Amino acid sequence: MEIFIYLIIFIMGTFFGSFFTLAVYRIPLKQDILYTHSYCPNCKHKLNTLDLFPILSYIILKGRCRYCGEKIRIRYFLLEILGGIVFLLYAISFKFNIMYFEIYKIIKFAFVILYFVSLFLIAGIDKENVKIEKCLLIYGFILSIAYIIYVCTNYKVNVYSYIIYIILMLIFMIINEILLHKYQKNNYYILLISLFSYMLIFSNLIGFIITFTISIIAIFINLIINKILKTTNNKIPIAFYISIINIIYMILVNYLQYYILKI
Ligand SMILES: [Zn+2]
Repeated sequence: MEIFIYLIIFIMGTFFGSFFTLAVYRIPLKQDILYTHSYCPNCKHKLNTLDLFPILSYIILKGRCRYCGEKIRIRYFLLEILGGIVFLLYAISFKFNIMYFEIYKIIKFAFVILYFVSLFLIAGIDKENVKIEKCLLIYGFILSIAYIIYVCTNYKVNVYSYIIYIILMLIFMIINEILLHKYQKNNYYILLISLFSYMLIFSNLIGFIITFTISIIAIFINLIINKILKTTNNKIPIAFYISIINIIYMILVNYLQYYILKI
Protein backbone atom coordinates (compact mmCIF):
# COMPACT_ATOMS: atom_id res chain seq x y z
CA MET A 1 0.00 0.00 0.00
CA GLU A 2 2.82 2.38 0.86
CA ILE A 3 4.35 1.54 -2.51
CA PHE A 4 1.25 2.97 -4.18
CA ILE A 5 1.64 6.29 -2.34
CA TYR A 6 5.34 6.41 -3.15
CA LEU A 7 4.57 5.74 -6.80
CA ILE A 8 2.14 8.68 -6.93
CA ILE A 9 4.72 10.91 -5.26
CA PHE A 10 7.37 9.76 -7.75
CA ILE A 11 5.06 10.60 -10.68
CA MET A 12 4.35 14.02 -9.12
CA GLY A 13 8.11 14.57 -9.01
CA THR A 14 8.52 13.64 -12.67
CA PHE A 15 5.81 16.17 -13.58
CA PHE A 16 7.70 18.78 -11.63
CA GLY A 17 10.92 17.76 -13.41
CA SER A 18 9.16 18.29 -16.70
CA PHE A 19 7.74 21.65 -15.58
CA PHE A 20 11.16 22.71 -14.27
CA THR A 21 12.85 23.04 -17.69
CA LEU A 22 9.95 25.08 -19.02
CA ALA A 23 9.82 27.35 -15.95
CA VAL A 24 13.57 27.97 -15.83
CA TYR A 25 13.41 28.99 -19.48
CA ARG A 26 10.25 31.08 -19.34
CA ILE A 27 10.36 32.87 -15.96
CA PRO A 28 13.41 35.08 -16.78
CA LEU A 29 11.74 35.98 -20.09
CA LYS A 30 8.59 36.97 -18.18
CA GLN A 31 6.58 34.43 -20.16
CA ASP A 32 3.53 32.68 -18.83
CA ILE A 33 4.32 29.32 -17.23
CA LEU A 34 0.86 27.95 -16.52
CA TYR A 35 -1.43 28.57 -19.47
CA THR A 36 0.66 28.83 -22.61
CA HIS A 37 1.06 25.40 -24.15
CA SER A 38 4.48 23.82 -24.59
CA TYR A 39 5.73 23.52 -28.14
CA CYS A 40 8.59 21.81 -29.94
CA PRO A 41 11.54 24.24 -30.08
CA ASN A 42 12.32 23.00 -33.61
CA CYS A 43 9.02 22.81 -35.52
CA LYS A 44 7.02 24.94 -33.02
CA HIS A 45 4.20 22.39 -33.12
CA LYS A 46 2.00 22.60 -30.03
CA LEU A 47 2.50 19.53 -27.82
CA ASN A 48 -0.55 17.67 -26.61
CA THR A 49 -1.07 16.21 -23.16
CA LEU A 50 0.25 12.79 -24.17
CA ASP A 51 3.47 14.31 -25.53
CA LEU A 52 4.00 15.98 -22.18
CA PHE A 53 3.59 12.95 -19.98
CA PRO A 54 6.99 12.68 -18.25
CA ILE A 55 9.41 9.80 -18.90
CA LEU A 56 6.86 7.64 -20.77
CA SER A 57 6.43 10.07 -23.67
CA TYR A 58 10.21 10.20 -24.08
CA ILE A 59 10.46 6.41 -24.16
CA ILE A 60 7.43 5.88 -26.45
CA LEU A 61 8.59 8.56 -28.91
CA LYS A 62 12.15 7.20 -28.69
CA GLY A 63 13.48 10.64 -27.75
CA ARG A 64 12.19 12.38 -30.87
CA CYS A 65 9.52 14.99 -31.62
CA ARG A 66 6.31 13.30 -32.83
CA TYR A 67 5.78 15.98 -35.48
CA CYS A 68 9.18 16.73 -37.01
CA GLY A 69 11.37 13.88 -35.76
CA GLU A 70 13.93 16.25 -34.21
CA LYS A 71 15.86 14.74 -31.29
CA ILE A 72 14.69 15.84 -27.84
CA ARG A 73 17.55 16.65 -25.51
CA ILE A 74 18.25 13.84 -23.03
CA ARG A 75 18.55 16.52 -20.36
CA TYR A 76 14.74 16.84 -20.20
CA PHE A 77 14.38 13.12 -19.64
CA LEU A 78 17.06 13.08 -16.94
CA LEU A 79 15.51 16.06 -15.15
CA GLU A 80 12.14 14.28 -15.08
CA ILE A 81 13.74 11.22 -13.48
CA LEU A 82 15.69 13.40 -11.06
CA GLY A 83 12.49 15.25 -10.05
CA GLY A 84 10.82 11.92 -9.32
CA ILE A 85 13.79 10.66 -7.31
CA VAL A 86 14.04 13.79 -5.15
CA PHE A 87 10.30 13.73 -4.33
CA LEU A 88 10.52 10.02 -3.60
CA LEU A 89 13.61 10.31 -1.39
CA TYR A 90 11.95 13.04 0.60
CA ALA A 91 8.74 11.02 0.99
CA ILE A 92 10.66 7.93 2.15
CA SER A 93 12.55 10.07 4.66
CA PHE A 94 9.22 10.61 6.49
CA LYS A 95 8.74 6.89 7.06
CA PHE A 96 4.99 7.23 6.38
CA ASN A 97 2.94 4.56 8.04
CA ILE A 98 -0.32 3.87 6.26
CA MET A 99 -1.86 2.27 9.37
CA TYR A 100 -1.74 5.57 11.21
CA PHE A 101 -2.91 8.50 9.19
CA GLU A 102 -0.11 10.81 10.23
CA ILE A 103 -1.63 14.11 9.17
CA TYR A 104 1.15 16.24 10.70
CA LYS A 105 3.73 14.44 8.56
CA ILE A 106 1.61 14.80 5.43
CA ILE A 107 1.14 18.54 5.96
CA LYS A 108 4.84 19.05 6.62
CA PHE A 109 5.68 17.02 3.52
CA ALA A 110 3.36 19.18 1.39
CA PHE A 111 4.76 22.46 2.74
CA VAL A 112 8.38 21.41 2.26
CA ILE A 113 7.76 20.07 -1.25
CA LEU A 114 6.30 23.47 -2.19
CA TYR A 115 9.40 25.01 -0.61
CA PHE A 116 11.68 22.67 -2.61
CA VAL A 117 9.88 23.63 -5.82
CA SER A 118 10.79 27.29 -5.27
CA LEU A 119 14.41 26.44 -4.35
CA PHE A 120 14.84 24.25 -7.44
CA LEU A 121 13.55 27.04 -9.68
CA ILE A 122 15.71 29.66 -7.93
CA ALA A 123 18.73 27.34 -8.33
CA GLY A 124 18.02 26.58 -12.00
CA ILE A 125 17.52 30.21 -12.99
CA ASP A 126 20.55 31.35 -10.99
CA LYS A 127 22.74 28.68 -12.61
CA GLU A 128 21.68 29.80 -16.11
CA ASN A 129 21.55 33.58 -15.63
CA VAL A 130 23.16 34.41 -12.23
CA LYS A 131 19.93 36.04 -11.24
CA ILE A 132 17.47 35.62 -8.38
CA GLU A 133 13.91 35.84 -9.62
CA LYS A 134 11.74 38.14 -7.51
CA CYS A 135 8.51 36.36 -8.40
CA LEU A 136 9.87 33.19 -6.75
CA LEU A 137 10.65 35.13 -3.57
CA ILE A 138 7.11 36.51 -3.60
CA TYR A 139 5.82 32.93 -3.95
CA GLY A 140 8.14 32.00 -1.05
CA PHE A 141 6.85 34.87 1.04
CA ILE A 142 3.22 33.78 0.62
CA LEU A 143 4.13 30.15 1.30
CA SER A 144 6.06 31.22 4.42
CA ILE A 145 3.06 33.09 5.82
CA ALA A 146 0.86 30.00 5.42
CA TYR A 147 3.59 27.80 6.94
CA ILE A 148 4.17 30.10 9.92
CA ILE A 149 0.44 30.28 10.66
CA TYR A 150 0.26 26.48 10.50
CA VAL A 151 3.34 25.87 12.67
CA CYS A 152 2.47 28.47 15.28
CA THR A 153 -1.12 27.32 15.69
CA ASN A 154 -0.22 23.62 15.95
CA TYR A 155 3.12 23.44 17.71
CA LYS A 156 4.85 25.03 20.65
CA VAL A 157 7.43 27.03 18.77
CA ASN A 158 9.16 30.33 19.16
CA VAL A 159 6.78 32.60 17.25
CA TYR A 160 9.12 35.58 17.48
CA SER A 161 11.96 34.01 15.51
CA TYR A 162 9.54 33.28 12.65
CA ILE A 163 8.23 36.83 12.76
CA ILE A 164 11.80 38.20 12.64
CA TYR A 165 12.69 35.99 9.65
CA ILE A 166 9.59 36.89 7.66
CA ILE A 167 10.02 40.62 8.37
CA LEU A 168 13.68 40.37 7.29
CA MET A 169 12.61 38.62 4.12
CA LEU A 170 10.11 41.38 3.36
CA ILE A 171 12.47 44.25 4.30
CA PHE A 172 15.17 43.08 1.90
CA MET A 173 12.63 42.66 -0.88
CA ILE A 174 11.51 46.26 -0.25
CA ILE A 175 15.13 47.52 -0.14
CA ASN A 176 15.66 45.88 -3.52
CA GLU A 177 12.60 47.70 -4.89
CA ILE A 178 13.93 51.05 -3.63
CA LEU A 179 17.36 50.38 -5.16
CA LEU A 180 15.72 49.14 -8.35
CA HIS A 181 13.94 52.47 -8.63
CA LYS A 182 17.25 54.31 -8.19
CA TYR A 183 19.66 52.16 -10.23
CA GLN A 184 17.23 50.43 -12.63
CA LYS A 185 18.71 47.08 -11.64
CA ASN A 186 17.80 44.32 -9.20
CA ASN A 187 20.44 43.90 -6.51
CA TYR A 188 21.60 40.28 -6.43
CA TYR A 189 23.04 40.40 -2.91
CA ILE A 190 20.03 42.12 -1.37
CA LEU A 191 17.75 39.46 -2.90
CA LEU A 192 20.18 36.82 -1.66
CA ILE A 193 19.70 38.01 1.94
CA SER A 194 15.96 37.82 1.38
CA LEU A 195 16.48 34.22 0.22
CA PHE A 196 18.53 33.50 3.37
CA SER A 197 15.61 34.70 5.52
CA TYR A 198 13.27 32.43 3.55
CA MET A 199 15.57 29.47 4.28
CA LEU A 200 15.66 30.39 7.98
CA ILE A 201 11.88 29.99 8.12
CA PHE A 202 11.90 26.44 6.73
CA SER A 203 15.20 25.03 7.95
CA ASN A 204 15.64 27.11 11.16
CA LEU A 205 18.85 28.68 12.45
CA ILE A 206 21.00 25.55 12.82
CA GLY A 207 19.91 24.20 9.45
CA PHE A 208 20.67 27.49 7.82
CA ILE A 209 24.14 27.79 9.40
CA ILE A 210 25.01 24.26 8.22
CA THR A 211 23.68 25.01 4.71
CA PHE A 212 25.57 28.29 4.60
CA THR A 213 28.89 26.80 5.77
CA ILE A 214 28.77 23.88 3.31
CA SER A 215 27.83 26.28 0.51
CA ILE A 216 30.87 28.48 1.24
CA ILE A 217 33.09 25.37 1.13
CA ALA A 218 31.46 24.19 -2.13
CA ILE A 219 31.89 27.61 -3.76
CA PHE A 220 35.51 27.74 -2.58
CA ILE A 221 36.28 24.29 -4.00
CA ASN A 222 34.63 25.31 -7.26
CA LEU A 223 36.77 28.45 -7.43
CA ILE A 224 39.93 26.41 -6.93
CA ILE A 225 38.89 23.94 -9.65
CA ASN A 226 38.16 26.86 -11.99
CA LYS A 227 41.57 28.29 -11.20
CA ILE A 228 43.31 24.98 -11.96
CA LEU A 229 41.34 24.42 -15.16
CA LYS A 230 41.80 28.10 -15.97
CA THR A 231 38.13 28.53 -16.81
CA THR A 232 37.09 32.09 -16.14
CA ASN A 233 33.88 32.22 -14.27
CA ASN A 234 33.11 35.80 -13.38
CA LYS A 235 29.95 35.65 -11.35
CA ILE A 236 29.25 32.82 -8.95
CA PRO A 237 25.64 31.63 -8.76
CA ILE A 238 25.56 31.67 -4.96
CA ALA A 239 21.80 31.11 -4.80
CA PHE A 240 22.25 27.94 -6.87
CA TYR A 241 24.71 26.40 -4.40
CA ILE A 242 22.86 27.40 -1.29
CA SER A 243 19.46 26.22 -2.61
CA ILE A 244 20.68 22.78 -3.68
CA ILE A 245 22.63 22.26 -0.46
CA ASN A 246 19.63 23.33 1.59
CA ILE A 247 17.42 20.76 -0.18
CA ILE A 248 19.97 17.99 0.47
CA TYR A 249 20.26 19.08 4.10
CA MET A 250 16.48 19.04 4.62
CA ILE A 251 16.23 15.50 3.22
CA LEU A 252 19.18 14.14 5.21
CA VAL A 253 17.98 15.66 8.47
CA ASN A 254 14.69 13.78 8.08
CA TYR A 255 16.50 10.47 7.62
CA LEU A 256 18.50 11.25 10.72
CA GLN A 257 15.35 12.09 12.68
CA TYR A 258 13.08 9.22 11.58
CA TYR A 259 15.54 6.41 10.85
CA ILE A 260 18.57 6.91 13.09
CA LEU A 261 17.42 8.88 16.12
CA LYS A 262 13.82 7.60 15.73
CA ILE A 263 12.25 10.67 17.32
ZN1 LIG B 1 9.17 19.16 -33.62
